Amino acid sequence: EAPTTDRLLRGLNAEQLAAVTLPARPALILAGAGSGKTRVLTTRIAWLLQTGQVSPGGLMAVTFTNKASKEMQARLSAMLPINVRGMWIGTFHGLCNRFLRAHWKLAGLPQGFQILDTADSLSAVKRIIKAMQLDEERFVPKQVSWFIAGAKEDGLRAKDVEIHDGQTQKLAEIYKAYEDQCLREGVVDFAELLLRAYELMRDNEALREHYRHRFQHILVDEFQDTNRLQYAWLKMFAGPHGAVFAVGDDDQSIYGFRGALVGNMADFEREFHVDKVIKLEQNYRSFGNILDAANHLIDRNSKRLGKNLRTDQGPGEPVRIFESTSDFAEAQWFLEEAQQLHRSGTARSEIAVLYRSNAQSRVIESALFNAGIPYRVYGGLRFFERAEVKHALSYLRLIENPNDDTSFLRVVNFPTRGIGARTIELLQDSARQTGRSLFQSVGSVAGKGGSNLAQFTGLIERMQQATRGLTLRDIIEHMLAETGLIDFYRADKEGADRVENLEELMNAAEAFVTQEGFGRDAVALPVDELSPGTLASRNTSRDVPGIQLDAPVTPDAETGEIMSPLAAFLTHASLEAGDNQAQAGQDAIQLMTIHSAKGLEFDSVFITGLEEGLFPHENSLQSNDGLEEERRLMYVAITRARKRLYLSFSQTRLLHGQTRYNVKSRFVEELPEANVRWLTPRNQAFGSGYAREYKSAWERGTGLGSMIGAGRVESSPVPKAMQDSRSATSSSGQQLRQGQSVFHNKFGEGVIVTLEGAGEEARAQVNFGRHGMKWLALSVAKLTPVD
Ligand code: ATP
Ligand code: MG
Repeated sequence: EAPTTDRLLRGLNAEQLAAVTLPARPALILAGAGSGKTRVLTTRIAWLLQTGQVSPGGLMAVTFTNKASKEMQARLSAMLPINVRGMWIGTFHGLCNRFLRAHWKLAGLPQGFQILDTADSLSAVKRIIKAMQLDEERFVPKQVSWFIAGAKEDGLRAKDVEIHDGQTQKLAEIYKAYEDQCLREGVVDFAELLLRAYELMRDNEALREHYRHRFQHILVDEFQDTNRLQYAWLKMFAGPHGAVFAVGDDDQSIYGFRGALVGNMADFEREFHVDKVIKLEQNYRSFGNILDAANHLIDRNSKRLGKNLRTDQGPGEPVRIFESTSDFAEAQWFLEEAQQLHRSGTARSEIAVLYRSNAQSRVIESALFNAGIPYRVYGGLRFFERAEVKHALSYLRLIENPNDDTSFLRVVNFPTRGIGARTIELLQDSARQTGRSLFQSVGSVAGKGGSNLAQFTGLIERMQQATRGLTLRDIIEHMLAETGLIDFYRADKEGADRVENLEELMNAAEAFVTQEGFGRDAVALPVDELSPGTLASRNTSRDVPGIQLDAPVTPDAETGEIMSPLAAFLTHASLEAGDNQAQAGQDAIQLMTIHSAKGLEFDSVFITGLEEGLFPHENSLQSNDGLEEERRLMYVAITRARKRLYLSFSQTRLLHGQTRYNVKSRFVEELPEANVRWLTPRNQAFGSGYAREYKSAWERGTGLGSMIGAGRVESSPVPKAMQDSRSATSSSGQQLRQGQSVFHNKFGEGVIVTLEGAGEEARAQVNFGRHGMKWLALSVAKLTPVD
């Protein structure tokens, strides 16, 4: 083979090489963390291109996050002298968006359709529940939202929903009303992107033939996390014989809670007649202690396809475990360790803090912030989801499409302009009766409210005029001034951060235009525009006549642009993780949930909050499947680390405004002794003399969490010794016992599930039904027995 190809393939091991150079047939690579799956996939793309087997327009690669797709593009550009911009590399959502932009007319969407993020979609559902005058207690908006998204992921439209009682009947009606409303407003939610793209392919034979012919290779990373609809979508694009190259790891399947189906792997193998599943067993990422810990942990799961991982690297450093007294102390400890690592040469961007839920980041963020250390948060409240940024985006959306009711409602009275709830209700009634948008219905409201509304629509219209032809940055600047948004936050004593974020929005817009050549994802380039360079370009879609892209048919009359920069930017804001652009180049510590760390790697990794109820999450404990998914999540977390791994848990944690008393996670217990080192004293298991030991533990200052749990938390989140607790005395001096019904001023009636400790330290776990499970300090909480 050519020497350049040689260079491409150099360094791969035998299995990897075999995988990269497989013939154009369906293939499944099943392998553990850090074994080079993503590298194999990327190298295969480069190899296919370089050997002229396919042109850049002839393949599609699906990644799980935007970050991953950018990384893949960067790696490809480094390997080959090609323009990766026009290539179909992206997330399911990004690719569907692109597909629908190209065929918006066929898909029955308005040209500049906008995307609803999860919060917008929820508020749209709320509006419908209200308009239908349904009880929010019975139709909890969040649950209804999940229902709709779930139905879409099963490929079901409102009319297809199975109805077995009054409740499902109503849910189907809400779903129908939601569908109509979205269509009327010209917006689509995330699940809709996929479903609509799928349906369009299913129902349009010419289009289907075109794309099946065009994409000779479809490559999918993190295949274990595809859901039913995504898999159906893939099959639709691939056709029965398509060369789908899927890589995945059943042990890293962590989206079961959102409908991902590990079973898709088995289905894929069968339906695509994969004759040989390739396994990669060499791990190139982590040192021995880290890898052993991961292997040992995941070995406890029963449902596994089974594979091994080994490393040639030495054992490296042990996995370090730290116990702290509070979440605050945990953050301080982390800060010091991270500083130490940085001083001894680790780049900040190679230090990651991982946590189970977003709420945990706050205390770590504030420690970093106070110490003046740069950090970057991924996921969580993403930049584009912050309130002030959403307000700004809503104004921008209205400039683009005034009939977007969600945006209308968000800012019609923000900053305040004397438009009250009553006026809005009148407006909504009128809009509902005539089937028009709120913007179109403003004339129907009389009085002061009506004239204030008219001023608002006047403002939007003025901005539409004034911003025509301006650059994206200028449009935003104009909007911020004209709407009074920036002044509003400037006048606010606490608004400095928000002003900064709004300025950041302008930077993001500018970066979007210059770096992204805006609309890379938003505008589907005609196939011929993909620059194959010197590479072979056989079998492009020119072979299939009769397919036209919808978008270029109606370019902007003045500028000739396929899509306005503003519309493209708004799409980007909905789809993009929204990482702070200005900080992008800075060497910053990385904060993220474990879910968003998938596929990534760092020199040093801290997994924090390893506490029962938090991780494994309390919602997962009902079923073994739930617990196994949490364990896979822990496996993902551990395997992100190359050199150093730290685990920490805290005896107490302030979460959602409440102090939780914790028992260390069973996952800490499940790690092999040989690979770990405790930074704080490791405590012994304790038995019958519970109260005495408990007391002395406090006197020793090692705290509660340190003594609870050793060896005891395996089958239950609450250690046995604690469940056995007999009785305690309430703050009012009354005797309490397990199983007793009690009354609490705030939470109402509940049942004592657990009692533990004595005297000052006594506390009870009480199930308050609707208010959930609470841990209460009995010296403070007023619990009255109700018998
Ligand atoms: P995950 O399951 O976490 O997504 P993965 O299987 O996709 O992991 P990669 O991210 O592709 O693994 O690879 C892990 C690390 O090992 C990367 O840094 C990669 O560059 C490196 N690597 C992979 N294969 C080789 C190899 N043959 N020689 C040297 N390094 C390799
Ligand atoms: Mg990977």
